Amino acid sequence: MAGISSGNIWIDTFHILQKKDLEERYRKRWNLQFNYSLADNLTEEQRKAGWKISQTTRFACFTCSNCSHFWNSGRVTLIFHYRLGKSKTGTVLFYPFRQMCRQCDYDRFINPRFKEESVKITLENLILKIRKNCYGEKMDSDSQHIKNPIIRRTKPHERDLCEACMKGVCNKEYDVL
Ligand SMILES: [Zn+2]
Ligand SMILES: [Zn+2]
Repeated sequence: MAGISSGNIWIDTFHILQKKDLEERYRKRWNLQFNYSLADNLTEEQRKAGWKISQTTRFACFTCSNCSHFWNSGRVTLIFHYRLGKSKTGTVLFYPFRQMCRQCDYDRFINPRFKEESVKITLENLILKIRKNCYGEKMDSDSQHIKNPIIRRTKPHERDLCEACMKGVCNKEYDVL
């Protein structure tokens, strides 16, 4: 990879994947940024500005930064907002929803950690959606091109500790175009 690693697996993996499938194909670089205030829907202005949404869920693990308690979750909500726009770069905003610790009364959300494979599959799917929805590439059918993760789990999941459940956006698999 050219340039300096961000130290974040999502940013670094996206940087590598977008190079071949977006930047070299369409002469425009795409960037991924974290944003912890994304909604699961678009305002009229956002829609007019060309924003689109991809929402999915993935398996992830957590380690409490207060008591070191470790847990797995089969249902971590991920929301992506993406836009081709007229500027020099395309933009992807990313909100991986967090969870709270059950073992202690630490009142902050803990960030999920994902397996490399899961990050790669998730971002490959997102890039296929960008090619289809932003550049109008013909894809025969989603099922042939959008790869599903090998393991699809929904458990374990504790609703009262899940940030996405609290915001009423948990466990949806859908696109807003
Ligand atoms: Zn804890
Ligand atoms: Zn939830």
